Amino acid sequence: MQAVIAPTPLPDVTAQIESSIARARAAQPNWAATPVRERLRVIRNFQQALYRDVDAVAALIAEETGKPKAEALTAEVLVTLDATRFLLKEVPRLFRRERVRHGNLAMRAKRAYLQREPYGVVGIISPWNYPFSIPASEVLAALACGNAVVLKPSEFTPRCALKLQELLFAAGLHRDLLHVVPGEGPAGAALVAAPIDKLIFTGSVATGKKIARAAAEKLLPVVLELGGKDPMIVLEDADINVASSAAVWGAFMNAGQTCLSVERCYVHRDIHDKFVQACVEKVKKLRVGEEIGPLINDRQLQTVETQVQDAIARGAKVECGGQRGSAPHSYVPTVVTHADHSMKLLTEETFGPIVPVIPFANDDEAVRSANDSAFGLAASIWTRDRARGEALAQRLHSGTVMVNDLISAFGISEAPHGGFGESGIGRTHGRMGLEEMVRAKYIDVDLLPGMPKVWWFGYGDEFYAQMRGFFDFLFSRSIGRRIAGGFAALRAFRRKNRI
Ligand code: NAD
Repeated sequence: MQAVIAPTPLPDVTAQIESSIARARAAQPNWAATPVRERLRVIRNFQQALYRDVDAVAALIAEETGKPKAEALTAEVLVTLDATRFLLKEVPRLFRRERVRHGNLAMRAKRAYLQREPYGVVGIISPWNYPFSIPASEVLAALACGNAVVLKPSEFTPRCALKLQELLFAAGLHRDLLHVVPGEGPAGAALVAAPIDKLIFTGSVATGKKIARAAAEKLLPVVLELGGKDPMIVLEDADINVASSAAVWGAFMNAGQTCLSVERCYVHRDIHDKFVQACVEKVKKLRVGEEIGPLINDRQLQTVETQVQDAIARGAKVECGGQRGSAPHSYVPTVVTHADHSMKLLTEETFGPIVPVIPFANDDEAVRSANDSAFGLAASIWTRDRARGEALAQRLHSGTVMVNDLISAFGISEAPHGGFGESGIGRTHGRMGLEEMVRAKYIDVDLLPGMPKVWWFGYGDEFYAQMRGFFDFLFSRSIGRRIAGGFAALRAFRRKNRI
């Protein structure tokens, strides 16, 4: 695996963003007017282009991030290909008119429907941890819905975003519909400040808050996909072998740099020791370098080290790992016990290969501990009792809860992805993610164009009494009052003083 490339600041990125937006804005109306099936032809061509190029794309992702090629293949390329399948199926449905039926008797003489239209120019700011699948699923959804896109990828992984653009252009996308503007944080801030119509941001809570403040100033609608501190709850009836393998994979895949990584593992006290032992044995079998790559950079390594040191100083015990690896900015997979919620390790996002395992006595304590977090992205529950797992899932403060699985929800294109609390606002993926790429327009057609409305001007005591009758007609529990009210209301149609 090669070292990750250094950030490359670009001169005059604001001017580049403004000219990109101007070109995107000029091209977008034609794209929006293009029939959905023709827009989807580009998505289908992209799917085939990516399928043909799978190995090269996986290799590029692995090279740019340091992650194992197998993970690049499954968690990035496959996730992206599945997203194209989902879009081909779901986007035509999204753009079908949706009839809105009126329950209010006074509004019956109308036909009404909802229709979706693209926002216009969508800005997308993405992180480095899934440098292909995250921007790809958002860019593809935005384009399929008729938007143009300006993408600011992470400064650490611009080549994956440029590859995405290259594949889309090869698939026949008009070159003005997708602009990739590499750059650091200020480039992202310039994109937020520029005249875009919607922003989809994926990244840290700190940056998300800055973006929310800037967006509020101009009422820019935003989706914020932020960090997590995902709990895993292992009940006493869980299969220890399966659950420990899940914990090891869930905590250490992508070197723990996944927003849905297991960051806290709560295990019933009856099986806690056996579970820890199983995890430690499995961690020792991991092939560091091949299965566990380095962290993205030294800053990430320092965060991990600081949290482990803080935990040790407060009484935690390192069961295995707990030190730097031999490769640059790498950290050995680490299992920690005797951890508690006074430690950064249990309260702040770690984003590294550390899993603290904490015992609990009963379901209530497990739920309380899992919910004791400012984040709420995803959680998992491990049990042989499906009903108990589902009942506990209802009680967790989390955008996603998986019972007997973890992380894979991100690869289910139908599943909405997003969090509660500091984990963000809005959703990507699934129908809800598509709805974020369009605005809904309500269209209402009155079927009696020759008739002035009953409730228009020309008020007075008589009109008031007629309307009171209408209230009786609708809501009285007395049949007699309803009938009398109905007759009174009908007189409103013959009201002489209507203006
Ligand atoms: P980050 O917040 O440092 O950067 C994310 C993006 O924002 C980058 O492109 C960066 O250049 C840009 N940026 C930085 N400052 C900006 C500013 N002031 N204005 C606008 N843009 C700015 O995050 P990161 O380190 O790249 O990614 C890791 C974080 O992302 C973790 O917290 C992780 O949990 C989160 N994440 C969340 C999800 C999710 O779907 N919820 C998915 C992946 C990663």
